[in-house]
Amino acid sequence: MAFARNIAIFTVTLSLLVFIAFFGRLPAFRSTPIGFLHRLLIIHIPSSLRSLDLYFTNGRITSGSSRLGHYLMYEKHPVVVIFFLGLLTGSTALFVPVIWSRLPLHHQILIPLILPLPYIFTYLSATRNHHAYITELNHAAQMRCYPYDRILYYPGNPCQTCLFIKPARSKHCSICKMCVARMDHHCIWVNNCLGRGNYRWFLALLLSTGTLLAYGAYLAYMIISPLAKDHYETYEHWYKYELDPTADPSSWLTYLDMKLHYFLMFTSIYLEEGGLRASGVGLLALLTWPLPLALFGYHIYLIWVGMTTNESGKWADWRDDMNDGVVFLGQRRQDTLQSIYQTLPEEEEPRTTWPLESRHILVRTMNGEPPQNLPSRIRSVAKEDSFQRVWSLREVENVYDLGFWDNFREALK
Ligand SMILES: [Zn+2]
Ligand SMILES: [Zn+2]
Repeated sequence: MAFARNIAIFTVTLSLLVFIAFFGRLPAFRSTPIGFLHRLLIIHIPSSLRSLDLYFTNGRITSGSSRLGHYLMYEKHPVVVIFFLGLLTGSTALFVPVIWSRLPLHHQILIPLILPLPYIFTYLSATRNHHAYITELNHAAQMRCYPYDRILYYPGNPCQTCLFIKPARSKHCSICKMCVARMDHHCIWVNNCLGRGNYRWFLALLLSTGTLLAYGAYLAYMIISPLAKDHYETYEHWYKYELDPTADPSSWLTYLDMKLHYFLMFTSIYLEEGGLRASGVGLLALLTWPLPLALFGYHIYLIWVGMTTNESGKWADWRDDMNDGVVFLGQRRQDTLQSIYQTLPEEEEPRTTWPLESRHILVRTMNGEPPQNLPSRIRSVAKEDSFQRVWSLREVENVYDLGFWDNFREALK
């Protein structure tokens, strides 16, 4: 019982740490406890350990581990892909054989249909990058996909590595060593950048993995529940009459204590009755299925607001500066809007197929005073004296937001 309970506590803690490590960096969590714990885990604890190591061993421990850390963080490597697919394969090999004979026929048909999906979508996310990567061959076409909004992206910025003008919404990935079209993020789970061309496979991967895990947890519950039922009634009786008969049943502390005991007992009974193979994997699936689905939900939110993960970070920077009162919104001169008049050579800002034009320009100033002596790239397109202080992102147009369904169609390209 104590062993099973320790396993349950260990698995819950591990899931929480994984959640913080993977989700804590999202701009949405920047000023929440999750963001704080993420900074503690990724920045503060490692830097304290480094200082200790520097003090005691003159940095001998961290110089070896930082080479490994550098490899894992900044080089293209399949370690996480192998870990993920290995965990999935290992769990399946442990889980399916012990429950197979007890499953109804329709589940025996459904499992072989759902199980291959995460493998297929991992493969597609990892390999379908001939549209995501910008090359000399497709550069001209990539330049015509999105206009420069002059908020997040300005025309005429060359990539120092790839030596061409960066198309709007693209970003150079220092791990892939390529510029990526409509860059979302570099994903270590698939060892590839996600952008135009393979983002859809990433969405499919999240959805299929979340569904598979939830399904696995449900199957474990379905198989073990009848076995655990008798025990559960005994435990319920034990808590009510023997653990603490004097506890005040109306107090929220008793209520919380009872719920916590129930949860731990329930998990323990399952681990004992189902055996470590069925219930251990079932518990892992139960605790992890919300992770891919929450990430899927977050990406649906990003599609809804017309942003990539990369852009959500840039917008969050603007929002933080707006809160400090140092951001000014200017109107673009009508005659410089792309459809009417071209201010830059065709190679730097070609005519795009995108239906919207940006009418706004954002400027941040160092001292919070209205902008003066604007650089020529802004002066040439902005209406003079049109700059007003803005306090909220709601006042700014996002030219890449066409409304949910059009954004969704765009995300699948
Ligand atoms: Zn580049
Ligand atoms: Zn990359």
